[in-house]
Amino acid sequence: MNMTPNNQAMMQRDLAVLWHPCTQMKDHETLPLIPIRRGQGVWLEDFDGRQYLDAISSWWVNLFGHANPRITAALQQQLQTLDHVLLAGFSHAPAIELAERLIQLAPPGLQRVFYADNGSSAIEVALKMSYHYWRNSGRPDKSRFITLANSYHGETLGALAVGNVALYRDTYGPLLMPTLTAPSPDCYHRAPGETWYDYSLRRLADMEQLLEQHHHAVAAVIIEPLVQCAGNMRMYDPVYLTRLRQACDRYQVHLIADEIAVGFGRTGTMFACEQGGITPDFLCLAKGLTGGCLPLSATLTTDTIYQAFYDDYQNLTAFLHSHSYTGHPLGCSAALATLDIFAGDQVLSRNAALAQVMRSATAHLADHPHVAEVRQHGMILAIEMVQDKQTRTPYPWQQRRGLRVYRHALQQGVLLRPLGDVIYFMPPYVITPEQITMLARVTTEGIELATRD
Ligand SMILES: *Cc1c(COP(=O)(O)O)cnc(C)c1O
Repeated sequence: MNMTPNNQAMMQRDLAVLWHPCTQMKDHETLPLIPIRRGQGVWLEDFDGRQYLDAISSWWVNLFGHANPRITAALQQQLQTLDHVLLAGFSHAPAIELAERLIQLAPPGLQRVFYADNGSSAIEVALKMSYHYWRNSGRPDKSRFITLANSYHGETLGALAVGNVALYRDTYGPLLMPTLTAPSPDCYHRAPGETWYDYSLRRLADMEQLLEQHHHAVAAVIIEPLVQCAGNMRMYDPVYLTRLRQACDRYQVHLIADEIAVGFGRTGTMFACEQGGITPDFLCLAKGLTGGCLPLSATLTTDTIYQAFYDDYQNLTAFLHSHSYTGHPLGCSAALATLDIFAGDQVLSRNAALAQVMRSATAHLADHPHVAEVRQHGMILAIEMVQDKQTRTPYPWQQRRGLRVYRHALQQGVLLRPLGDVIYFMPPYVITPEQITMLARVTTEGIELATRD
């Protein structure tokens, strides 16, 4: 056969055998699946030769463009040296060097790195370690977790249990461990005229109450610092981090910071925790860690935690958790190349300028009759469509207005993937001001179309 593969042919082959993530497969009876044959910088190219600007960094992972030459070169080098080796009883240079550099970059006091191979696993590691720490310290009663409403921490059962987005969670409710839930500091719900700062503080009072009541039974509080990404890109003020850290110390409860989505410069600082001036007891990293090209995750923790596991083997205090590809050499090499780019290219100050461009390019949307809010933390900007601007009444979800924006954007050569009716930009950091302007134009048109009737 000499059929050149095009979109149609690839889609047919795909739909005959694949089951896609986070997808109602029946949607593809009417919604074309887009097979991609090449990625370069911010662009993805399909099998018909059409190009799409990847405005969501391929699910929030890509930092410096697809096929970044510096990351690719590091991978080629590594592949010729060592493909993979187990990390129990053995070690390798990329894992060691990456751990050293992560510890240097992370908030002070995080001194140990435990690798896994995806974000959900990093969360499982933090949850298990926290509980296990208390158990090793003679406090097995501290076995519960406090989570925030509207939070998301991944899809494996432990991570899903501490998440709070109903769409993903509710179906599996009977399988999930019970948790305690504090109201989210999500500032979308602030009163008219109230500042982000004041609202976030007001919600902290609820968290403090929960801690006061339950701290004897609580191992850790788990949060997404500053932005609840999967929870519709809802945002809050750094003061919440500062005060939550103090409260956790007061009540002897660990703080787990899930920076899987917001780490590595997304919110303006290398890690979002820096804006609250805090060091969590556990810092979970994945997604952008490898620049977005390979799966790898890391859970960073303190020496205090580490020491509670360090003992004679017979005492059975070790953390006996592993994944086959823990600390994969290729992933670690990609991560090192990614950190080199951060070290050499003044990424954060460049991002500050790009974030400003995103802000001004979308400012006009705040006045749109069906936009409740345009909000931003650094390189994440979100636009929330509503049916009624005054009362912030959402459109009935069944209408899937965000999907209309998605379709329009695709036709215009832009990959947006709204969360419900929330359209957001979370682009690779190599996007240009001109591309941001284009993105804003396509988004404005998309919102017009989606809210017309
Ligand atoms: C994506 C994400 C996860 C899960 O990471 P996976 O690699 O998809 O398992 C956990 N927490 C947050 C905040 C995320 O955005």
